[in-house]
Amino acid sequence: MNDSYRHKGLRKKLVEQVRAKGIRNEEILNALQAVPRHFFLDSSFVEIAYQDKPFPIGAGQTISQPYTVAFQTELLQVEKGNKVLEVGTGSGYQACVLAEMGARVFTIERHHSLYRKTKQLLNEMKYSIKLFYGDGYEGLPAFAPFDRILVTAAAPQVPRKLLDQLKIGGMMVVPLGKGDTQIMTRVVKHGDDELEKQEFGNFRFVPMLGDKER
Ligand code: SAM
Repeated sequence: MNDSYRHKGLRKKLVEQVRAKGIRNEEILNALQAVPRHFFLDSSFVEIAYQDKPFPIGAGQTISQPYTVAFQTELLQVEKGNKVLEVGTGSGYQACVLAEMGARVFTIERHHSLYRKTKQLLNEMKYSIKLFYGDGYEGLPAFAPFDRILVTAAAPQVPRKLLDQLKIGGMMVVPLGKGDTQIMTRVVKHGDDELEKQEFGNFRFVPMLGDKER
């Protein structure tokens, strides 16, 4: 795995594009600069890795657009040492951005082929991220509660079991909706039955599928 001056230069341009689109949090921009996005795509796609676009990663899934990764991370208000659950590991890119922000990251993926590929990559990259193969709707009760939960696939509604695994005072960011576009939503858990929902515009995600869905 080679991360050359050329790659770093391409990344710098990408970071400036993301900044120009409104992301001003320097810790997030530094994390984008730190994570070699070309490692998450096949080696023939170096140029594409540094465009602000989603891209196929196999199994009908995508690596999210860098701006979307930054936007969701900003909404999540991650603090150093936070225990963060990500649903939808995919390529592992978002998980690495969270790790660069100082989070303790747990992440779940339902596609075994992606889980295996990403586990190997993150080991090679020496990230101490905890990867799990399974259904994100179930969360990770054995490791709960979490300070933050980030869902990177489109859910029809806020998954109840994930809410139960969120600390009081914690936040979940999840794109909500069944159609072509979803509303980026932040849920703040003030109490077990006291939730505050905030909405942040339209995005487009692959669906969050349950165990039996294809
Ligand atoms: N965060 C990823 C990244 O950085 O590459 C991008 C995620 S991709 C947009 C959405 C991912 O969610 C896909 O890999 C998909 O297989 C996964 N997914 C969908 N439903 C899921 C579920 N119920 N549990 C776990 N993962 C799920």
